[in-house]
Amino acid sequence: MKTKAKRSTICVQGGWNPKKGDPRVLPIYQSTTFKYDTSDQMGRLFDLKDAGYFYSRLQNPTTDAVASKIADLEGGIGAILTASGQAANFFALTNICEAGDHFVCSASIYGGTYNLFGVTLKKFGIDVTFINPNDTDEVIEKAFRPNTKALFGETVSNPTLEVLDIEKFARIAHQQGVPLIIDNTFPTPINCRPFEWGADIIVHSTTKYMDGHASAIGGCVVDSGNFDWAAHANKFPGLCTPDPSYHGLTYTETFGKMAYLTKATVQLMRDLGSTQSPMNAFLLNLGLETLHLRMPQHCKNALLVSQYLEANDKIAWVNYCDLPSSPYYELSKKYMPKGSCGVISFGLKGGRESSIEFMDSLKLAAIVTHVADARTCVLHPASHTHRQLSDQQLADAGIRPDLIRFSVGIEDPEDIIADIQQALDKI
Ligand SMILES: *Cc1c(COP(=O)(O)O)cnc(C)c1O
Repeated sequence: MKTKAKRSTICVQGGWNPKKGDPRVLPIYQSTTFKYDTSDQMGRLFDLKDAGYFYSRLQNPTTDAVASKIADLEGGIGAILTASGQAANFFALTNICEAGDHFVCSASIYGGTYNLFGVTLKKFGIDVTFINPNDTDEVIEKAFRPNTKALFGETVSNPTLEVLDIEKFARIAHQQGVPLIIDNTFPTPINCRPFEWGADIIVHSTTKYMDGHASAIGGCVVDSGNFDWAAHANKFPGLCTPDPSYHGLTYTETFGKMAYLTKATVQLMRDLGSTQSPMNAFLLNLGLETLHLRMPQHCKNALLVSQYLEANDKIAWVNYCDLPSSPYYELSKKYMPKGSCGVISFGLKGGRESSIEFMDSLKLAAIVTHVADARTCVLHPASHTHRQLSDQQLADAGIRPDLIRFSVGIEDPEDIIADIQQALDKI
């Protein structure tokens, strides 16, 4: 698909360009392996002298087609699919951070990412400093060290719905000579394109809106091609000095702008094997074909539901970045003028007990450990994901005991509101 096409056209037709007699629909290349005619042909692939498929742990035509659709949607030069959003974040960081390195990260991020960075990567010798994303440039810059390799943030944080000032983060990162990595899962490229605001690398949990039907776990790493690794060669030896596992090839010299993604594929994927299966990539592609239709409906429904809740006297508070009452309203309008996403959170005046009673009374909205799905779903972090914590510990973690995370689906908004209404009536 030519990158000139509009995003909705890329959603429907991007990635897969069938030639004469090819299947019109992206086929599932359910094959681990690919055939060659001579030993030399295969050998050249292993030396990275020729490009081609040889083993689906590294690359597969189905996953590649879907990755290239997402790259086009984000306006990047390429992408790789990973087995999950967690794997995407792991790859995005460890592709440029080694033991002894450090990176700076917004504290307003998804809990799974927080654990990956703060616990598991620390065990690998990669240190992180979590910062308040609303602090000034000067305060955030103090977190940087000579061994800092990246700055990381989420466009819209899960579940606190804080909107990141991407331009500010890009300015700070580039001042420090490191790339800005953005998790763009919640808005998707339909609502926000972080590369246009200076981000260098984008990661996604494709499990959420991109798949949209809660059928396949997946992730994606997209490169803008804008960060000049070679200009900071001393910071990024993995990209700018020879790789002994490929006879001393240097990624920036051999692959230019594709250095980052090539290293992630031929070194990290080869060694860690967290690739997305062709079957899951096929399902993800079906989701992507309607992403441009679903996102506006999620945003429209979420706004209607949050306005309804704000006007209801049993509701203590509502948090949705597209409501004028949100402290993030201005940033949301700047970065996501068409709307942010379908996730909102709120609390009931009766506190934790009422929140539980309310959720148990819902009929259309299902209690599931998921967000960003076509079906409306709901979760109570204090009873589920953060269940072991006391009210005081919850407060320290920024999770109110009464917080209900409500992921507004694409059903008729009147039915969603009627369901909330009948559940509130029981309290
Ligand atoms: C869900 C999520 C992840 C993790 O993705 P998985 O596909 O569940 O591994 C990462 N970042 C954000 C913002 C998420 O919502």
